[in-house]
Amino acid sequence: MSATEGGATPLDWRRPAGADEVRSALLALRAEDLPTHGGRTLSYVYDSGLSSADEIGREALTQFAAANGLDPTAFPSLAALESDLVALARDLLDGPPGTVGAATSGGTESLVLAVLAARDGNPQVSRPQVVVPTSVHAAVHKAGHLLGIDIASVPVDPLTLRADPAAMAAAVTDSTVLVVASAPSYAHGVIDPVAEIAAMAAERGIRCHVDACIGGWVLPFLDDVPPWTFALDGVTSISVDLHKYAYTPKGISLLLHREPSLRKGHLFASAAWPGYTMLNTTLQSTKSGGPLAAAWAVVHAIGLDGYRELAGRARSATLEVAESVAGIEGLRVVVAPDSTLLALAADAGCDVFTVADEMAARGWLVQPQMSFADLPATLHLTLCAATAAHTRELVTALAESVAAARAAGPVQVDPDLAAAARQIDPDGLDEATLDGLLAIAGLAGDGGALRVPTRMAEVNALLDLAPPALREALLLAVLDRLTR
Ligand SMILES: *Cc1c(COP(=O)(O)O)cnc(C)c1O
Repeated sequence: MSATEGGATPLDWRRPAGADEVRSALLALRAEDLPTHGGRTLSYVYDSGLSSADEIGREALTQFAAANGLDPTAFPSLAALESDLVALARDLLDGPPGTVGAATSGGTESLVLAVLAARDGNPQVSRPQVVVPTSVHAAVHKAGHLLGIDIASVPVDPLTLRADPAAMAAAVTDSTVLVVASAPSYAHGVIDPVAEIAAMAAERGIRCHVDACIGGWVLPFLDDVPPWTFALDGVTSISVDLHKYAYTPKGISLLLHREPSLRKGHLFASAAWPGYTMLNTTLQSTKSGGPLAAAWAVVHAIGLDGYRELAGRARSATLEVAESVAGIEGLRVVVAPDSTLLALAADAGCDVFTVADEMAARGWLVQPQMSFADLPATLHLTLCAATAAHTRELVTALAESVAAARAAGPVQVDPDLAAAARQIDPDGLDEATLDGLLAIAGLAGDGGALRVPTRMAEVNALLDLAPPALREALLLAVLDRLTR
C-alpha cells in the first residue's frame, strides 16, 4: 500500500467545463501522484531518462487512441505494428521462425492467456493444475482463480530463493498442464533455473512458461546470464512487458508461443449472438491502438543499441547500490541480483516499513514486501536507467533512512492486536468487524471514509503479522472502501 490519498474532483458535471478548467483539474490531481519520471520512484514506473523517446511515444499514443484493435482487417495499421513488435521480440528471445505472439494489456493478461492456452490445449485433463515456485508473480494465482485451475506452489530454495526443479518435478501430476519459471522473479530479482525446469517439463510432455514480464527486455542485453529463452527447447511460451523495461507507455505486454498450435487455446470466436462474429486473440475485445502504437514508436526510437545501453546502465546502478548496501549497518541485500531488481532486508535493530517511510520522506519510493513463509519482510527496488545518475543520492538516502529507523527502533504492534491478527478467521469477517479492524489499524477517517496515513509503518507492520488470507481480506476491505 502506498500513502497517496484520493479525493473528489472539483468539477461539476451539470455544466460543460472549459478546456483550461479540465486541464488544471487534471494537473492538480496528478500533483498528488508519485512522480513517474526522475528515477526516484523505484516501483510502478519505468524511466529511460530519454525525453525524446517519451515524446514520440506520447505522440503515437494520442494518434492511435481511437483506433480499435477489435478487428485487424478494419485497422490494418495495428496488425502491422503488432506483427513487427512480435517479430522483434521473437528475435530478442531466440524464438524459432514459427514463433507467434499477441500484444496484451499487461503482464497479468499475458499470464492469464498463457494459463488459458495451456488449459484449453489439454481438454483431456478434467481438473487442470499449474506448478509454480512460491516466488511466481501473483498474476499466476489470479489466472488460477479466474480460470478454475489449481496452482501448486512449490517452495523456492531457501538459500538461493530460486525455484527448486526437483521439488517442482515432484509436484507434477497427470493433471499438470503447465509449469512456470521466472526470469527474474519480481520479489527477489533472481532467475529460476529455467533450463532444468524446461527440460523436466519437456520430458513429461508439459508446457513451460517463462515469466519474463520484468526481465525480458533487460536480460538479453546483459552478459553472463544463464539460458532462459526459447533457445531452451522445453520453453513453450514467454511473457514480456513492454510497459516495463522497454520504457513504453502503460498498457502493453507481449505473449509469445513457440508455435501456432500452442497458442490456439487463447484465441476466441463467438457466433452465438446476432451481432458481428466476435474474434479475439486477447481478453480485451475493443482495445485502443494507443499503447501498441506508442510501444512500437518507443521501441524503434530507442533501438537495439539504445536498449543495450539502458540495460547496462540500470544493471550497473543495481550492482553499485547492492555493493553500497553492504556498508550500511542494519541493511542487507537478500540475494545477489541477477537483473536490475533488489530486495533489501533489515536486521533486528530496525524494520523495513519504517525505512520505507523514511525513504518516502526523502523523496524516494521503495516498495515494502511483507514477510512470506520463512522469508523476511523486504524492500523492493526496481532500478531503471534514469536512476543510474542518482545512485549516490539513493545510497545516502538509504543510509540516513536506516539510521533514522534504527534510532526509532522497530515498529511496535500492540501485543493484543498482534495476537488477534494471528487468530482471526478471515472467512468469518462481516463488514462491521472489518470496519472495526480498519479503525484499530488507524485507517478510519470521518463518516466511515478511509484515511490513508502518510506514514505507513504501523499499518504495514500489522499487515505483516496477519496471515496472508487475513491480509487479503483486510486489503480487499480497504480497496472496497476506497472505491465506494
Ligand atoms: C509486473 C509483473 C507481472 C504483472 O504485470 P502487470 O503488467 O502488472 O499486469 C507479472 N510477472 C512479473 C515477473 C512482473 O514483474
